[in-house]
Amino acid sequence: MEITEKAPAKINLGLDVIGKRSDGYHELDMIMASVDLADRVTVREIPEDDVIRIQSSSSFVPLNKKNHAYKAADLLKKSFNIKKGVEIYIDKKTPVAAGLAGGSSDAAATLRALNLLWDLKLSLPELAKLGEQIGSDVPYCVYGQTARVTGRGESVRPITNPKKSWVILVKPEFGISTPDIFRAVDLAEISHPDIMALETAVAMADFPEMLAQLGNSLEAISIGKYPLIEKIKQRLLDSGADGVLMSGSGPTVFALCQQEKKARRICNGIKGFCDEVYLVRML
Ligand code: ATP
Repeated sequence: MEITEKAPAKINLGLDVIGKRSDGYHELDMIMASVDLADRVTVREIPEDDVIRIQSSSSFVPLNKKNHAYKAADLLKKSFNIKKGVEIYIDKKTPVAAGLAGGSSDAAATLRALNLLWDLKLSLPELAKLGEQIGSDVPYCVYGQTARVTGRGESVRPITNPKKSWVILVKPEFGISTPDIFRAVDLAEISHPDIMALETAVAMADFPEMLAQLGNSLEAISIGKYPLIEKIKQRLLDSGADGVLMSGSGPTVFALCQQEKKARRICNGIKGFCDEVYLVRML
């Protein structure tokens, strides 16, 4: 038997770094949303006991215990004393180290898929709780729907999806290490987007107000290290995007557009400037 689960990429409509915790993590307040750019994670029973075999269409992901999908399978095996072996195939579509939580979403999809394959009957909150041990974005990715996310990512409160819009994702050639950016956070210096106002705008389906409240505390830090991010933002704005922001710790920049025709024009225009561009929809 085999089971396939989608692992959608996420974007941060808002990301506020509130403080530093005693455990070393930062306290965050975020609005996260998923888009229809997704990896596909397929889990399949194999005869060899206690083996977790990772395969992928991408040469950019580790095929060993460093893979977040491996960690998810290992965690479930250990937590529920499962001896069976499993092969996990990741059909990779989301760019790696991009600020789109590709690896976390693969881990979440693996948790959901193995929950079915091994008939564990765990609820989404139970899977999200386990996901905390793998990475801060995994609890959100277990749900994969728009949410207010707080703590270091462990507290997820799903909210209404924002008004459906087109999303242009622009990923520069380089990747960014999330811990590197968090290490550079100076709480006295960073900007603090109003996440409550953003949530209200999303709930009211007030698109212009949602655009006005987009914000990311980490953006200025990533731009300081990689000025190309600012150039991409400016280019997208100049070409008429409704709203533009860096996702997560970057480097991917997303542009929002309500009109399909405009979104396609902007997408085609930016392709000459940056190689990796995706036109997707908010889920
Ligand atoms: P986040 O937004 O959660 O910080 P990200 O999109 O910036 O995540 P990922 O694509 O998840 O970053 O990759 C981060 C690192 O994790 C990479 O260096 C990669 O080698 C490693 N990794 C482990 N497993 C995976 C996976 N299944 N997919 C992608 N990267 C993985």
